[in-house]
Amino acid sequence: MRCSCPPAPTRRTEARLRAVVRTSSSARTTATSTTTERTSSTPRCPIRAAAAATGAALPWETTSSTSPAMRHVKRSPIPTGMPGSTGVATRRTTNAPGRPLPSSGPADTAISGSGPTPFPAASRPLRNLSRTSLPRGPGDAGVFCYGYPSSFMTAWMVLAFAAAMAAREPAALSVGTATAAPGRRVFGAIEVPAGVDAATRIDVAVIRGTKPGPVLALVSGAHGTEYASIVAVSKLVSAIDPAALSGTVVLVPLVNVASFEQKVPHVNPVDGKSMNRFYPGRMEGTQTERASFLLTREVVEKCDHLIDLHGGDLDEDLRPYSYWTKTGNAAQDAVSREMVLAFGLDHVIVSTDRPKDPQASRYLENTATTRGKPSITVEAGHAGTVEPDDVAALVDGCLSVMRYLKMLPGAPTRVEHPVWIDSVKTVASGETGLFYPTVRRGTYVAEGMTVGYVTDFVGRRIFEARAPASGVVLYVCAVPSMKKGDTVANVGTIAASPP
Ligand SMILES: [Zn+2]
Repeated sequence: MRCSCPPAPTRRTEARLRAVVRTSSSARTTATSTTTERTSSTPRCPIRAAAAATGAALPWETTSSTSPAMRHVKRSPIPTGMPGSTGVATRRTTNAPGRPLPSSGPADTAISGSGPTPFPAASRPLRNLSRTSLPRGPGDAGVFCYGYPSSFMTAWMVLAFAAAMAAREPAALSVGTATAAPGRRVFGAIEVPAGVDAATRIDVAVIRGTKPGPVLALVSGAHGTEYASIVAVSKLVSAIDPAALSGTVVLVPLVNVASFEQKVPHVNPVDGKSMNRFYPGRMEGTQTERASFLLTREVVEKCDHLIDLHGGDLDEDLRPYSYWTKTGNAAQDAVSREMVLAFGLDHVIVSTDRPKDPQASRYLENTATTRGKPSITVEAGHAGTVEPDDVAALVDGCLSVMRYLKMLPGAPTRVEHPVWIDSVKTVASGETGLFYPTVRRGTYVAEGMTVGYVTDFVGRRIFEARAPASGVVLYVCAVPSMKKGDTVANVGTIAASPP
């Protein structure tokens, strides 16, 4: 019996799909147009109807031996309210072949060991779309619609429903040794092998929701004694319920393990380098550079958004603030601006001087930003303390951004009118000695006002530190140790108008 449903994709359609993919500059736009084209009419074929009802791939898309990528392509919504979202827009994600299907086991299960090939970034399957094989002759699944007997139809209906069930949920995602199936919270590590110096192990948790959505990375502890941020990300691991989550959260609470263990501020004591200055890193370098390389590959390249969490280090009396990087890409900047407002800290530094070269991105957030992923940096906590207000600001900020990204239900708690800071002026000490601050973190100062002074070790006043500009004290040195040339304070100047 001849099926009367709309025809399967033809070679002409395939060619058009390929042309669209090749020529489009917008991956998401391409995905939208191709998906809409295929699902715009009401299918009369029962298999098409079943597939349409469940969002599953059609059998000819699931059985072609030459289309491993397209086989698993399905749709997931772009969060509405974001630039580029029309409310009905779709984004393609992929079920990577060979990944374990969702199980009904407990949500909290530790998994470690070598995972499968890492899940590609959300846009990567689109590159494979041009290689997709569509039905093309006898023996190919697509031809059943054109005259195969009913027994074959029954078989294909079963397959269609099986495919529909399998395609309902997102695939697993691997970061380092952690592989998270949908609905699971798993633990693993990014193993940094020994090279010119020692190996290290960076713990990671991956929480995979049951519904499609973006991949958000939360990273802290590049400076291993900025404790409030490390505690906040560590707490978020158990605070996020995979059953309530759309998309995936990758959590890396402590990048700089040696700094934490040895209580060394600012740098990795293994090689003396800041772990937020050597991105995207290289495997031939020292431990900081190797870790940066693997974090770029395992975390940055697999996420859609990243929040890098910091705070005042052991010697920094810091007031909370965020960084918003203005790249010049209006669509990307609009999303990151909304992220920074959703995070909720009421002072925001506008960064316009970050490197533009993805291969010389220097900072973690800038590594994501230069790869087209809207991302922010946030700071809360000070001088070795773990104050509940600081931890809460960081935890609540991350959850609020997740609501903005539609990863959690509910509306974000947005700061409506933050203080925008358009430049940061550093006050350096002219002498070595004992430092005494005369302002607190967050104090507003006028240009020329004393922010602290230095005495020699027998108490004689030898240096007066003055505010280089009017503005807010973002942080001031929290300890008496002061060396000539070291930072006394950072003063943020207030922007005349919101950016
Ligand atoms: Zn830091």
